[in-house]
Amino acid sequence: MKKNRELFIAGNWKMNTSVTEGVKLAEGLKEKYGNIKGVRLAVAVPFTHIIEVGKVIKGTSIELAAQNMNENEKGAFTGEISALMLKDLGVKLVIIGHSERRHIYGESNETIALKVKAVLNAGFECILCIGETREERESGMLEKVLKLQVESALCGLSTDEIKRVIIAYEPVWAIGTGLTASKEDAENAHKFIRKTVSDIFDESVAQKIIIQYGGSVNASNSASLLSAENIDGALVGGASLSVEKFSGIIDSVIA
Ligand code: PEP
Repeated sequence: MKKNRELFIAGNWKMNTSVTEGVKLAEGLKEKYGNIKGVRLAVAVPFTHIIEVGKVIKGTSIELAAQNMNENEKGAFTGEISALMLKDLGVKLVIIGHSERRHIYGESNETIALKVKAVLNAGFECILCIGETREERESGMLEKVLKLQVESALCGLSTDEIKRVIIAYEPVWAIGTGLTASKEDAENAHKFIRKTVSDIFDESVAQKIIIQYGGSVNASNSASLLSAENIDGALVGGASLSVEKFSGIIDSVIA
């Protein structure tokens, strides 16, 4: 426990693995961490895997997450997935605003705010991803970008709703690139995000909110990053696709 905040490590499988491969990966994680204590663990799997992976991890400490969700209840939205569709499948959390959704699929802060609200209305927890591009960081826009992303997604949420929000700070330039923010840069960003949450809500809400770091996290950098005061866990992409690599990260913080 860090400042009374539980460490939370989530794997984001993105658009990887067949259902068979995903089930095997989940079985490997269940074998090692089915009853893990001291760290919260989740896997965000492709929609097609939710039922089968859900069966594997049901009743274990590993939580099931979706990678995206449409903001509308139902209707003519071909190819989209609603809260109702996820509701019965054991999904506990939904990732919203991943940089790939923002930058490849053009999701705006406004759309992301609607999605956050829909996720919370449905009773799920939300992992809200935020983060700056390299250009934004280099042009001194870091704090402005993070503040706007946090405020647009969280302003107006009730005190009950904000309790079900986890923030993942993922600098866009560090995602899938092998580049990682230094512990100091990551900690500074997390501190700023926590301060922004405090300004919107209050210090007690800010002290409780979990802020994960994401961006090329691996077994060699996880322990150092997660030892920072305001870094409460990790959102892991590439390294969550192998039991061995993901275990290296988990073991580094529970050891
Ligand atoms: C991610 O998908 O959120 C991510 C951080 O990816 P990676 O760990 O591969 O950089």
